[in-house]
This record gives sequence, structure tokens and C-alpha cells, in this order.
Amino acid sequence: MTYTTGICVCLLCISLNPQKIFLKHFYLSYNDFITNMRNFTKEDFTNNKVNLHIHTTFSDGKADAFDIVKQAKDKGYKKIAICDHNTMEAHKVVKDNILIPAVEFDVWCGYVFLHLLAYNVDVNNEELQAVCAKSKKETELDIIRFFSKRDIKKLIQAIHNAGGIAVLAHPCCCWALSLDRFVKKLVSYGLDGIEVYYPYPRWRKYIRFSNPDCIEKIAEKYNLIKTGGTDLHGKFLN
Ligand SMILES: [Zn+2]
Ligand SMILES: [Zn+2]
Repeated sequence: MTYTTGICVCLLCISLNPQKIFLKHFYLSYNDFITNMRNFTKEDFTNNKVNLHIHTTFSDGKADAFDIVKQAKDKGYKKIAICDHNTMEAHKVVKDNILIPAVEFDVWCGYVFLHLLAYNVDVNNEELQAVCAKSKKETELDIIRFFSKRDIKKLIQAIHNAGGIAVLAHPCCCWALSLDRFVKKLVSYGLDGIEVYYPYPRWRKYIRFSNPDCIEKIAEKYNLIKTGGTDLHGKFLN
């Protein structure tokens, strides 16, 4: 395993700003991270051992980021990912081995609006920070987030440049006429994974445009990493 760190921890840097030591995250290399992600099983996601889609008060969630980490440990989770809308701020204050540094971006691809998850990103990467929210509203309000000006190709490239992987969130919420062709296009732009294990509840204002049963087949067809999470916006982990 190759570990790199997003912040310099030399004695000089630490002595100039002792707080930096608390902000240190450990990142796996892109390839090691992909290997780890592929090792998660369907059961890990469905039996509440791994949840890679959690929102906190840093965006439109109700959960406190520190409390979510505590809950995950108490409940025996292997890994969780806090992925707030368009912001990595949670990861600048909460650091824990159970936590994957992540973010969920609003972005358009042609006529389709989508949510793109990024995992294992260096939260101090300037290129990625540049495409993050500039105001709290951009992390909360759907109507503002819907007018995202991010460029999908550049966004995926920025995620890769920050050491991360790009994953299509809740794909059945995309209004692409053919989800298969849409995913194929994203793969050509560098998409690494797709959220397969996602509970599509009707009450979360999202409409399902395609049947979740087809997602696993699409994931296998394009050799995508299969991820999962509950898109938690409430206070408590299952
Ligand atoms: Zn949300
Ligand atoms: Zn989403």
C-alpha cells in the first residue's frame, strides 16, 4: 500500500501551524483505493457495514459530522463516506480512519443533470477546491445547485488529479433516454464507478426514471466499481 498525505507534516510546517496535524488525512494511491473499493461486497452495503453516501450539516443534512463518525464506530461499520453537496469542508475538520474523504457534485452532461460522487480525494487539492461551492447556498438549495456550471469532462479530470475516483450517484434519477448509452458516454470521460446499492425512497423528491435492476448489469458491462450508500440526510445511521 502506498500512502500519501494531503498536507505537509514536516517539523517546520507543524511548528508554524500546529493545528495542521489534526487536519492530516491519509490517502491511498488511485490503484490501491480502487482495489479496496472492489473488495466491498453487496452484503457490506446492504447489511450496514459500509455506507458511502452521507450528508451532514456541512450541506443539507441534519447529522453532525463528528457524531456520524462516532455512530459508525459504535455500530461496527468498516467504512463510511461523508459526501456533502459541492463541499469538502467536513473533511477539513473531521479526520478518522473510518472516513473516506468524499464530495458529491452537481453537474450537467448534455441535457442530463446528474450527481457525481468523488472518493479518496485530496481535500486540499486546489483544482478540486476551485470547483466546489463558493457559498453555503450552493451546498443546500436544489434550485441553486441545479444551475451548476461545472463541465463534466473537466470535473472528472479534476477528481482524478486530486487522486480520487468518480462515481455516478443514484443513476436511476438521471433522465437519460438510455441509461446504458449515458453511462457509456461518462465512461469515455473517465467514470470509475456507479452507485448500485441505493435505496431509492419515493419520499425524497426524486423521481425514478429507470429500473434499479438494470444498474448492476450496466456496472458489469463497463467494468465499473459498484458502490452503495443510503444518501442519508437525517441524523442517524442505520
Ligand atoms: Zn442533499
Ligand atoms: Zn445526490
